[in-house]
Amino acid sequence: MREIIVDSFAGGKHPAPQFRTARRVPTGRNHPQPWEHVVSVSGGKDSTALYLLAIERGMPFTAVFADTGHEHPATYEYIAQLAERAGGPPILTVKADFTEAMARKRAFILAKWPAAGVPIDRVERAAALMRPTGIPFLDLVMVKGRFPGAKSRFCTDELKIAPMWFGVQKPVLEAGRSLISWQGVRAEESLVRRQMLRWQRVNLAPFSLPKREREAAWAFRAYTYRPIHSWLLADVFAMHDRHGIAPNPLYARGAERVGCWPCIFAKKDEIRLIAQIDPSAIDRVEEWESIAGGVSKRGAATFFCATDDPLYHDGGTVTAEQFGIRARVEWSKTTRGGVQYDLMARFEAGASCLEVGQCE
Ligand code: SF4
Repeated sequence: MREIIVDSFAGGKHPAPQFRTARRVPTGRNHPQPWEHVVSVSGGKDSTALYLLAIERGMPFTAVFADTGHEHPATYEYIAQLAERAGGPPILTVKADFTEAMARKRAFILAKWPAAGVPIDRVERAAALMRPTGIPFLDLVMVKGRFPGAKSRFCTDELKIAPMWFGVQKPVLEAGRSLISWQGVRAEESLVRRQMLRWQRVNLAPFSLPKREREAAWAFRAYTYRPIHSWLLADVFAMHDRHGIAPNPLYARGAERVGCWPCIFAKKDEIRLIAQIDPSAIDRVEEWESIAGGVSKRGAATFFCATDDPLYHDGGTVTAEQFGIRARVEWSKTTRGGVQYDLMARFEAGASCLEVGQCE
């Protein structure tokens, strides 16, 4: 599988990333291919149906998967085999790289934390931990010193939208072509999705770009195309059947969605399911909480935002023991006795990544 590593601009101080440059293409009305079709593939059922539909349509297209480093192994395997099984174009992987952002953060920790009164043993531990792991999700969390949450949802932008933009979309647009970004969004999945348009002029640039740069990206001709917007679930599976492609095996194991495993907005049922069928995912997140806590000035970082927890009170201390992933797994096992809250509603409310179809 071809892979494009995209230098991150997390922290906002990095010089402009080096773009993959595309040959400039003349764009007259009679140019044979003024449009570039880019199909987002996540390994989920909807984006797989989208990929199969693009194959059926018969025009050339580029399929892209944004790798967060936080997927179930079955999803990686599924994506690696999909093109061959379906007889479609190879699926390109884009992946954010935080090496330089981490070097800047390490220098910042060593220079500023002691002056801010952070004990020297914690400064040294944080600086030692601040080394790239090659796992984009974890490296990003270390750079930020915290996990993403509803009010600071940097994961989609930094791990999906930016690599897609710098690695694929921007070079196409800078070459003078119009870009059609295919998104596997279906109306029946939620109210927010129902209101989305099937066809829409969009600005695909990352939200975290400096305002002027992002505004300037409106000059490009980029469109979102949601051809399966009116499809029902049965249509999605019928498309799989027609091509003899089984859906991602995680569905057969009870998952309702695939993607980050788990997502920071995972529902109660999803947390319980992951703990049951893949305890190693919980172990991994617990280890990440420990690493992120080590590079956080507060000394603690939890995967699910502690302030979303009904048991959290303003000004209260956040500890991994009380609000970390293990505590959430225990909560997920409760029925009526547990306090109820719906993180997925937050996911839909901040729908920027849904608009660009990046998170299922
Ligand atoms: S799936 Fe969830 S955790 Fe992953 S990038 Fe999207 S919002 Fe963030």
